[in-house]
Amino acid sequence: MSDCIFCKIIDGQIPANIHYQDDTVIAFDDLNPQAPHHTLIVPKQHIATLNDLTSDEDENPTGHMVKVAATLAEELGLSESGYRFVMNCNGDGGQTVFHIHGHLLGGRKMHWPPG
Ligand code: 5GP
Ligand code: ZN
Repeated sequence: MSDCIFCKIIDGQIPANIHYQDDTVIAFDDLNPQAPHHTLIVPKQHIATLNDLTSDEDENPTGHMVKVAATLAEELGLSESGYRFVMNCNGDGGQTVFHIHGHLLGGRKMHWPPG
């Protein structure tokens, strides 16, 4: 956990352009944006992958992450044009930072199927 980039951002050890935070999540711009708007929604609790989620609703932050993503999308003016909210898991899923996070992507037409 001490080597986790996102834990360091949460602790303020690494700077980030933070859009929102509360007791459960933090949202900041991706360092390497893949769309005009690319914000990461990250739980403050260190959970390495989606496989490590508990089914206990009190401890599972994913529902709140989705709600925060939708609220940020609204604030960014993306609600009507549309956006993508995606989470990657492990190697084939394209996960590179092993602290779960959702990507909020918008401001351009998204492709399907994803690459
Ligand atoms: P993943 O590939 O794990 O789904 O997404 C990790 C994301 O974290 C990538 O889009 C990458 O650009 C972003 N990222 C990696 N290191 C940093 C960092 O230090 N700061 C910020 N803001 N984003 C980062
Ligand atoms: Zn972490």
